Amino acid sequence: MKVKSGDFVMPGDVLGVSEQFLPDKWAYDDGGYIKAAVIGTVDISSSNKKISIIPSSGKPAVLNIGDIVYGEITDVRGQRAMINVQKMKGEDRRLALPYMAAIHISQVKKGYLEKLTDAFRIGDVIEAKVSKIMGDNLDLNTADRENGVVKAMCTRCRAYMIPSKRNDEVYCEVCDRKERRKLSSNYDC
Ligand SMILES: [Zn+2]
Repeated sequence: MKVKSGDFVMPGDVLGVSEQFLPDKWAYDDGGYIKAAVIGTVDISSSNKKISIIPSSGKPAVLNIGDIVYGEITDVRGQRAMINVQKMKGEDRRLALPYMAAIHISQVKKGYLEKLTDAFRIGDVIEAKVSKIMGDNLDLNTADRENGVVKAMCTRCRAYMIPSKRNDEVYCEVCDRKERRKLSSNYDC
């Protein structure tokens, strides 16, 4: 990943390595990787290679039913996938609450899905619609064409995968592996 000043980043995003940058405000060194601590935009000083994040300002965003969000799959177990919600689509403000979400297997796609692991895997980034809100807990739905996995992480080597020619299948160029997903039509590759 090559970041430049003005790039929008989320907490945990890798900005570079410690040989490249010196972490300054709202950036930190995590075992040699420089990461963002907050949602905001990158600010790199060209003179001394200091990298900072300018936190997104404004009133934090409160989610409503029907909103589209991005989040990372943290667990896939039985009938339910768990998601750490990162941001609202088309909205740079941070979220008002540390929203956690779940998707039930019946809410993943139109039609029958036998195994949830054919749709999502840990580390995937998904785009999904909010269908229910209970405080900071959400239920999500990915049945629409635009919803589903936008970035699939290979279960073997952790690289991001590219869509294959088959529907709802992704391919890892690093370790030559195919896996199944419920892909969003907005897949990011
Ligand atoms: Zn792989």
